[in-house]
Amino acid sequence: MKKIVFISIIISLTLSNLAQDLNNVQLPHMRKQLVRKAINIPDILGYKTLKCDFHMHTVFSDGIVWPTFRVDEAWEEGLDAIAITDHIENQPSKKYVGGDHNASYEIALPRANEKDIILIRAGEITREMPPGHLNGLFLKDVNPLDTPHVKDAIKAATDQGGFILWNHPGWKAQQPDTCLWMEMHQELFDAGMIHGIEVFNEKEWYPIALDWCLDKEIAVIGNSDIHDVNAHYYDVENGHRPMTLVFATDRSEQAIKEAMFAKRTVAWFDDKLAGKEEFLKEIFRKSVSFKDTGKERKGKKLILAKNISDIPFILSNGDQGFTIPKQSEIIVHLKGKHSSYMVLNLYTGSDKNPTINIK
Ligand SMILES: [Zn+2]
Ligand SMILES: [Zn+2]
Repeated sequence: MKKIVFISIIISLTLSNLAQDLNNVQLPHMRKQLVRKAINIPDILGYKTLKCDFHMHTVFSDGIVWPTFRVDEAWEEGLDAIAITDHIENQPSKKYVGGDHNASYEIALPRANEKDIILIRAGEITREMPPGHLNGLFLKDVNPLDTPHVKDAIKAATDQGGFILWNHPGWKAQQPDTCLWMEMHQELFDAGMIHGIEVFNEKEWYPIALDWCLDKEIAVIGNSDIHDVNAHYYDVENGHRPMTLVFATDRSEQAIKEAMFAKRTVAWFDDKLAGKEEFLKEIFRKSVSFKDTGKERKGKKLILAKNISDIPFILSNGDQGFTIPKQSEIIVHLKGKHSSYMVLNLYTGSDKNPTINIK
């Protein structure tokens, strides 16, 4: 019996050696496996929570990557939708890549379709302040935005049913002292030509712009504005780029557009969520559950708090505070009847946090 096993091993080794091409041995296991990260944020109020980034650059303006690469990054980082927003007026590589403002979209579209990433046709109107930089989103043709007067460029976008996003309103290069809502912004807003404002851009946070959005019924937006390789700029393993959560009726471009014009958005970055109270409270309610363990310690009730989302929540009632980390359970020692807490990393205004009750 032993002999038979021995002989069969020799035969199989010989056969496998024969099957190998000794001029070229393929080692497919050495290739990195592409993995899509899952972002866990619950759907709310009957809508799907879509993770979107509406601002990024490629070699077709002053970014360093080819358009298809933006799709690959978005897929790996768990996003649903992106807009490539190359500058209309700033194309340092124009000599090499030509001047068609639709090029980055058209090059990236087949890859986006293959990977099921929703790609939105867009461009960045890049002007002095005021009005500064504005993204036209959901365009049919980006080229008409290439026109001398800024108001004509904005009109070229709105004539196509485009969504106008005021980018980085507090960018120091254009607003060195403070973040200002200027006369021209008021004029544009009155004419229905400002639909969203970035409260997070790249690594910046403009709390005052959140107040503008909530006071004036403007969509709250967070975007990367990435020019570099995203994973070289952000720690995408442990964290994430700035993004906009869009509460859409379904996972489609049309539904995202409808939701953005209806201002059903929240901006997310640095463990901060910024937006309307109804959305933030609902994200909290769907993410965190509290359960009375029925036990006590030194007269304090022991409550089990469970967070199923990727957002940690930082709670405080003035004299007692705790954090419920992402995707975790903790035991909270509840003092007496103190069950009302502010969630400090949820922003419903520049200096406003919503209050939740632990039941
Ligand atoms: Zn810009
Ligand atoms: Zn930009």
